[in-house]
Amino acid sequence: MRKQQNIIIIGAGLCGSLLALRLGQRGYNVTVYEMRPDLRKVNISAGRSINLAFSNRGNKAMKLVGLEDKVKALCIPMYGRMIHDRNGNTFQSNYSGRKHEYINSVSRGQLNALLLDEAEKHENVSLYFNKKCKSVNFQKITALFKDYNTNTEFEEDADVIIATDGAGSAMRKSYFLGKKFLFSFSQDYLTHGYKELSILPNNDGSYKTFKNALHIWPRGNFMLIALPNLDGSFTVTLFLSYDEGEYNFNNLTNDKIVLEFFKKEFPDALAIMPNLLKDFFKNPTAALGTVKCSPWHYKGNTLLMGDAAHAIVPFYGQGMNASFEDVVEFDAVMNKYEQSFSADKANWETVFTEYEKTRKKDTDAIADLAIDNFYEMRNHVANTMFQEKRKLEMTLEKAFPNEYYSKYALVTFNEDIGYREAMLKGRAQDKAILKLLADGKLNINDDLKSILKQIKQETEAILEDDRIVGMKN
Ligand code: FAD
Repeated sequence: MRKQQNIIIIGAGLCGSLLALRLGQRGYNVTVYEMRPDLRKVNISAGRSINLAFSNRGNKAMKLVGLEDKVKALCIPMYGRMIHDRNGNTFQSNYSGRKHEYINSVSRGQLNALLLDEAEKHENVSLYFNKKCKSVNFQKITALFKDYNTNTEFEEDADVIIATDGAGSAMRKSYFLGKKFLFSFSQDYLTHGYKELSILPNNDGSYKTFKNALHIWPRGNFMLIALPNLDGSFTVTLFLSYDEGEYNFNNLTNDKIVLEFFKKEFPDALAIMPNLLKDFFKNPTAALGTVKCSPWHYKGNTLLMGDAAHAIVPFYGQGMNASFEDVVEFDAVMNKYEQSFSADKANWETVFTEYEKTRKKDTDAIADLAIDNFYEMRNHVANTMFQEKRKLEMTLEKAFPNEYYSKYALVTFNEDIGYREAMLKGRAQDKAILKLLADGKLNINDDLKSILKQIKQETEAILEDDRIVGMKN
């Protein structure tokens, strides 16, 4: 492959800026077009998940581009879930029995800015802002942009176009509307939306509640969560149905009912959110959905990556991590083929085809796991059987750190196995433990070795059943 090939990247969000950096490091001529202003110069984060849970898969990508230490400086470790009941009692459930396994809260804006700064250090990478892609001609490899600075339109061509323009991707729309090949697309909305709120720091800059946890107020059909920021504040997110239940986004329309709702459901949160009403009526309510599509590429011309290819609901804290992992996987496929490449375009097709083949099963799996976690977080975390299971898993992880991994640990901390493998094993293990607990066959006070053996045997039996019905990798 000629190194001086020209690549257009559409969208300079988390995935696009990382991809630009990596392809820049690899020596390609990369031009990035982003529709919004440069976030390093203008504050544009309002209403868009201000902070995110960043974990091992995302970190693997940072290692690839040499940014692990710089990203670490932006991170606040969260060792577990801090669960708040209606009376304000709290209970911490760690993410893992292994001390070194935790997730991090990171600012979307700061992380994105760092990636843009690093990408821009490469003279073969150019970034353009206020340029919105309107459509892509994937047969001619051209993209049409609207320049918001001049209010004019222009067209650009390239050897390859990669769209990392998020869940509402313009290129994906062009695939769909173009009707030039068999393009499958699905978009499933949850009945719930989300709204961002905040807990501001104390006057001395300290945190109003425990800093190093992901706070959850699970209430069955809805929930509130809070992640810490470096400035002492927390970003709080309310996940709630648009129209179901006693309180919903459609009927929370005035101060009185919003206060009544928080007083009843989240009294301890309300006590540290004097700015609740201001935030509630200022910040937008946004929808949550899953996007799946295929193929992600058109021949060797164009490719979808990140949320543009596979947007997921945020309940596993993996959307960004998965989009970063896309770049790691793409890079590995390029390593495999780049040396043997000639200047022939068909070689990109080989890379795109193999990348999609290896990657899609994993992004489909994390999409499904994220939906599972929606139910787990808002409901099960407060359930006694679930808590008993988590306690047991924690004990097993502590006692057998190299032998036992919960589903959460397989998905979040085992970046060297794919999401699909983590899902199949994790689900089977969950089923096994819940079945053994429900049947009264597991006693937490028994010898741990024999408990582990029982769980392994039951898990293996369930996996074998799955294999028989064709759910194996
Ligand atoms: P985006 O971040 O959406 O970036 C797309 C970029 O393209 C944007 O800059 C956009 O302005 C630009 N763009 C869009 N259209 C065009 C166009 N036509 N032309 C030019 N540019 C365009 N993930 C986690 O890992 N952990 C979490 O805790 C987490 N929490 C979340 C909470 C919420 C409420 C939400 C909604 C998501 C959360 N996610 C989380 C998911 C994460 O935000 C996404 O997976 C991630 O942002 C995907 O990165 P991306 O670059 O593919 O897309």
